[in-house]
Order: sequence, then C-alpha cells, then structure tokens
Amino acid sequence: MASIRLHTAIPGPRSRELHARREQAVPRGLSHATPVYVSKAEGALIEDVDGNVLIDLAGGIGCLNVGHRHASVTAAIHSQVDRFLHTCGQVTPYESYIELAETMNRITPGDFAKKTLFVNTGAEAVENAVKIARAYTRRQAIVCFEDAFHGRTLLGLALTSKTHPYKAGFEPFPSEIYRIPYAYCYRCAYGKSFPSCKVHCANQAFDEFFRRHVAQEDVAALIVEPVLGEGGFVVPPPEFFAELRKVCDQNGIVLIADEVQTGFARTGAMFACERFGLVPDLIATAKSIGGGLPLAAVTGRAEIMDAAGPGGLGGTFAGNPVSCVAGLATVQAIERERLCDRAEHLGEQFRQRAQQWQRRWPAIGEVRGMCAIELVRPGTRTPAYEETNQITRYCYEHGVVVLSAGTFGNVIRILMPLVITDAQFEEALDVLEAALAVVAATNAEATHAVHS
Ligand code: PMP
Repeated sequence: MASIRLHTAIPGPRSRELHARREQAVPRGLSHATPVYVSKAEGALIEDVDGNVLIDLAGGIGCLNVGHRHASVTAAIHSQVDRFLHTCGQVTPYESYIELAETMNRITPGDFAKKTLFVNTGAEAVENAVKIARAYTRRQAIVCFEDAFHGRTLLGLALTSKTHPYKAGFEPFPSEIYRIPYAYCYRCAYGKSFPSCKVHCANQAFDEFFRRHVAQEDVAALIVEPVLGEGGFVVPPPEFFAELRKVCDQNGIVLIADEVQTGFARTGAMFACERFGLVPDLIATAKSIGGGLPLAAVTGRAEIMDAAGPGGLGGTFAGNPVSCVAGLATVQAIERERLCDRAEHLGEQFRQRAQQWQRRWPAIGEVRGMCAIELVRPGTRTPAYEETNQITRYCYEHGVVVLSAGTFGNVIRILMPLVITDAQFEEALDVLEAALAVVAATNAEATHAVHS
C-alpha cells in the first residue's frame, strides 16, 4: 500500500494560508525548502495541515535518524516533563547530563579518556570546540576547508565557505581562519585525480599552505567534516584522513571532526570517522543526537576538554534535561534497533537505483555514498542548479520532501529517517526517478527548441 496520500495540490489551501501569514510575520532571511506546513509526523511520514501525507527524505535536515516521534524518545520526554524542565546544569545539575556524557565518551571513536560538554546547536558545538582547542594549545589560528559548512553564527560562518546565501552581507567575520581545498575529487582544486595524486590535498598542499598562509606552529585546530554535509555529501578517500591525522600530529594541531550531519548512524557507523579509521581529538555533534530536540555536544580527549577553566564553558539551556533524556533514548534506540546496519542497507538500495539513473541520464555526474547525486549539464561538469531546484519542487509536489545541497546547489541529498521501511524508501525513490525523467525531458525539449 502506498504511503503517499495527496488530497489537494501541494501546497494545499491551508498551507498556502499559513504561508501568506508567515510572509507577513517572519523575516525573509528564514528560507523554506517546501511551502508545506506540518500537522503531525511519525516515522518517515509527515502529514500536512491539509491532510496530505508525504514521505520525508529530509528528516528536519538530518535530525531524525531515529524517525519522527520515536516511541522511546517520546516516552523519555514525557517522563522528564513530569519531573522538571529546567534548572540549568551550571546551577543544580542532574543525572541525565552525566549519563549522556558517559554514553558519548563510550560511543565516540578513540580508546582514551574522554569528556563531553553539551550545548544546544551544531554551531554552538563548533564554537566551543574552537574555544577548547585554543585554550589547550594557546594558539589562535584555525584551518578549515573549502565547501565546508559549520553553522550560522559569526564564527560558524567564518569557517563556512559559501557566500550566498550564508555569508554575503554579514561581514566582518572573526579573524585567524584559514581555508584549504577539501578532497572533492570530482572537482579537484588541483586538477589531479585519485589515486595517482597520492592525496596531494592533504600532504604537499599543506606544506605550501603552511608556507604561504599560516605557520603550522600558530595553528590551534583543523576542523573537518568527514563527509561534506551542506557542501554536497562529498566523500573523500580514507587516505585523506590518514594524512590529515599526520599533519595534526606532527604539528601539535587539535583535529576537530564536525559530525553534526554525519553522526548517529547516518553513514552506517555511529560516526563517519569510524568509516575512515579516523580518530579525532575533538568531535562536534548535534542534529540527530536529540531525536528531534535541540541538543549538541563536544566530546574529546579529557586533557583537551579540561583546558578551559571553570565557568569558561556552558550556556543557560545547554544540555537541558529534556534534551538529555531524549539523547539517551536516541542512542539506545540506534544501538538496539541496529540503525547502522539499516543505514548500510538503505544506502545500498539507493546506490543501486541511482547507478541505474546515472546510466540513463548523463545529467547525473556522480552518485555518492551518503545518499546523494550531483547534477550537471550533460557531457560537462557544469553544475545544474536550476534543474536541481526543479527536481526538489517536483518531489514535494508529488509527496516527497527532499533537500538540495552543494556549493553550487546542484546536489540532491537524502537524509531519510533510518526507520523508513524498504517499501516507503522505494516509493520515495520512484518519485525522485519520475522527477529526474520529467526534468530531463523538459530540458531536452528546451534545448531542441533553442537549436531548431
Ligand atoms: N556543522 C555541520 C556539518 C552542519 O551540517 C550544520 C547544520 N547544517 C552545522 C554545523 C550547524 O548546526 P546548527 O544548525 O544546529 O547550528
């Protein structure tokens, strides 16, 4: 039986009404990927205010690896709501914060003593990781990567490399941030190809970088996403991370992995670093850790985490008790329901379909492991930005919520809840396939019209 049920055109009349109100009440800087207003959600399904049911391949931007309203997450939240809501972990602490910190110390990569700090958002986790690394090394500079996204605060934006819509107009940003190309092999910044390049981007390129841009002894931390999130789900070769680890070890640089989007089973391992054999010194997490509630963390080597003095870290609502119990229930659900295996299985299901699409449509430049396709103008690597927008629009109009990504906005990324059933996932991919077919046919006609 199909899961998608559409009674009205999308957006329906009630969604349209709410959208008109939003335009009056909310600043336009808050964009919307779909104009569909939600009434309720369960698992991988969203019901909108007009009674339409859509399949969710966005998961609130990767926050719902355990699905909407996971039963054990909502049960934990309910029981906490009946006990207390907020006291502030810096005033009168509570056990769930400690238990979740112990859990994070256990499940993150690295066989050494660790400590965990909780905050509210991914950007805050990144900011705190940088503060901690600076306190520990007593150095200032931070190295980050092209095509990275690390958040919307001013430091997050300084570390992010996409001008529109994120950075433009919000300058100036904090200083002492240095950027180097990522291992985006499909668009190699050095015009090389893997493996003959011997991951130039992570060794020789660094030698030159430290000569030209910042001295290695001034660098406090290097921050890297194990797979680019907003940058287009780009998956580097594992050798990239082996080399980065060496660069950091040789120069006393703290290696921060930003696993905000890649963490909590998304890549078939609890953390993407594990897939590459990378053991970072600090790891920033957020999104799916809270099972749908705002929560984020910095976990890392105890001696680094302890570098900031008492009172140097924290925040009024940071690690609030409702989010902490939700986080505990989320991690337990991921482990109990073997969602890493499930991610692997769904990834394979996606890859098989996407590879068929790639054989059929030259507009699919690359199929990526963290469930994404990069769209290009056929026969070139020119990013197909408009076509990508046409596809995401076709999808929501036909009952599937899916997001784009990429510096050039030409990547379709799939962040389905990992509890989605095989049948629901196939159904959603059928809609995506139809979107690709319609857009390919429309553009072929348009090209024909221009040339005839
Ligand atoms: N880092 C990464 C890798 C992200 O994907 C994001 C959010 N897309 C952030 C940081 C910022 O997280 P938040 O929006 O929770 O501040």
